[in-house]
Amino acid sequence: MPGGLVEEGPNMVGGCLCGDVRYEIDAKPLLTALCHCEDCQKQTGSAFSVLVAVPRCSLWIEGEHMAAFESVGASGHPVTRWFCSGCGSSVLSDVAITPDLVWIRAGTLDDRSWLRPQMNIWCDSAQPWVLLERAIPGFAKNPPIGVGPGGKDLA
Ligand SMILES: [Zn+2]
Ligand SMILES: [Zn+2]
Repeated sequence: MPGGLVEEGPNMVGGCLCGDVRYEIDAKPLLTALCHCEDCQKQTGSAFSVLVAVPRCSLWIEGEHMAAFESVGASGHPVTRWFCSGCGSSVLSDVAITPDLVWIRAGTLDDRSWLRPQMNIWCDSAQPWVLLERAIPGFAKNPPIGVGPGGKDLA
């Protein structure tokens, strides 16, 4: 049995619903956030998105049906949302303002039971029937400078 796997953190492999897009992440997650912005609600067809930030260099991904939709985030910078055009699963986002990171849509992880969301963001547009966990920080919009992984700003 290979040593050290548990210490290295959870096994971050995942993919879309139809199985065309598959990815693997060779790093520990840097941040897990619940985003209640209206764009995330629209794109996921749900009340919020569960985002896991990982270093871009740690991501391996493949899929013939990878497609992208680009919009402008609240920061005024582009947000590219990657999804599978075969099944519609939303897989990850590229946020121009955090070029070293990719934001995985946590629902696509094969095992997401270990996730512990660390903050709520865009609480201003959270649905009134969503219960926001008060034990973790909540931000009205994007978190302030210095809150992101490694003390960096978030988009
Ligand atoms: Zn798919
Ligand atoms: Zn969002």
